[in-house]
Amino acid sequence: MGYLKQLDIENFKSWRGKHVIGPFMKFSCIIGTNGSGKSNVMDALSFAIGERAASLRVKHLRDLIHGANVGRPISDTARVAVRYCDDQERETVFCRIITGVSTEWQINGVRVTLAKYIEELEKLSIMTKVQNCMVFQGTVEVDCFEGSKGEDQNVGKASVKSRRTMLQSTMQRR
Ligand code: ATP
Ligand code: MG
Repeated sequence: MGYLKQLDIENFKSWRGKHVIGPFMKFSCIIGTNGSGKSNVMDALSFAIGERAASLRVKHLRDLIHGANVGRPISDTARVAVRYCDDQERETVFCRIITGVSTEWQINGVRVTLAKYIEELEKLSIMTKVQNCMVFQGTVEVDCFEGSKGEDQNVGKASVKSRRTMLQSTMQRR
């Protein structure tokens, strides 16, 4: 099975200028204080595999540009490239760039249509349309309750809510 090796990010959300996130291993953990940008890593990955603005916690794609959250975007463009490695360590780079109001899609540096981009991702079993292939913050709820006979035992029940429902309620709160 392949894996996500690295994210190359430029002017996306909390990253000003060019940054490399990674290299990741087959299992990686991102830690940091509140507001340090952990969820932005998920947003960057989602953006690069084709998510729409509403799923990236913004109204418009241009709001993803660094500084746009405070009304001062530092550039007209933002870019995220995903470096994916297959079992033989062959690398494919999927890159999404927003330039003003339009989006550009590239595979290994070559501009492609969105349909081709999605097709190539799906060949690697990266299914952008499959619900819950990524589990985002706030989409899992854990209900704990005590055992009926007073045993010292809590039972955890986790449920993955429909992401769309969660996003709608998040947007409504804003
Ligand atoms: P928590 O632990 O609370 O979930 P987090 O580590 O997941 O926090 P994120 O939500 O990833 O944090 O990042 C929030 C930060 O990203 C905020 O400081 C916010 O100002 C910054 N941010 C979001 N969009 C932009 C943008 N367009 N430009 C600059 N900074 C941005
Ligand atoms: Mg978060």
